[in-house]
Amino acid sequence: MKVTIHRLEPTVKDRNISLKCPHCGHYGTFQSLVHGPHDILTVDNFSDKYYLGIRRCPRNECNGHLFFIMNNFSDLIFTSPSDTIPFDQENIPSNIAEAFREAIICHSNNCFIASAIMIRKTLEEICEEREAEGKNLFVRLKDLGTKILIPKELIDAMDELRLLGNDATHIEAQTFNEIGKNEIEISIEFTKEILKAVYQYESLLSKLRNLKATRPSTN
Ligand SMILES: [Zn+2]
Repeated sequence: MKVTIHRLEPTVKDRNISLKCPHCGHYGTFQSLVHGPHDILTVDNFSDKYYLGIRRCPRNECNGHLFFIMNNFSDLIFTSPSDTIPFDQENIPSNIAEAFREAIICHSNNCFIASAIMIRKTLEEICEEREAEGKNLFVRLKDLGTKILIPKELIDAMDELRLLGNDATHIEAQTFNEIGKNEIEISIEFTKEILKAVYQYESLLSKLRNLKATRPSTN
C-alpha cells in the first residue's frame, strides 16, 4: 500500500497490536521493543492518520519482529512479514503444493485475482497428477470426480473454484460479483479440504492403523 506522508507527529502512547504471529502462528498482543511511545503518527494530504511501528512476538520461544501500519480506526492495514494462512503440505505432490502455496502468498499480500488464478492452477495440477482427461478444465474435473473418492460437495466446490479462476483472467467477472478477500479466503479453505481428501486422508488412516499395530491386542 502507499501512504503519502504530509507530516509526522509523536504519538501519545503506542498502539495495541494483537494478531496471529506471522513467524510462529500463535495469537498474542505484540510488545514494544522499548519503553515509552515510539510509534510514528503520519498524516497524509487528506488528513488521514496512520500509525507506523515495530513490535515483537510476546512468546519467548519466538520473539519475531514485525512492522505494521494501522489506520485511525485501529485497523491493521499492513504488516511485514504478512500473515499467511497455515497449510499442511504433507503427502501433497510438490508442484501442487507449490501452486497452492503461491495462492496463499498472493492472498496474504492482498493480490486476490492472482490468488484466484493460482487456485485454478492448483486444480489443473491435481487433474494432471490424477490423469483426469478432457478438452478443458470443466470436463477434466468431471473426469477427476470418477477417479477419486471425494464428497460430492467438494466436487461442486471445485467447479466453483474453476469459475472463480476463470473470472480472474477476464477483465469483467462473469460469474462472481467480485474477487475479494472473502471470496479468496473461502476458496482457500475449500481447496485445503480438496487437497486433504485427495492426498491426506489416506496417510492419516495409515497412521491410525500403525498406532493400532503397536498396541498389544486386548482380544
Ligand atoms: Zn511468534
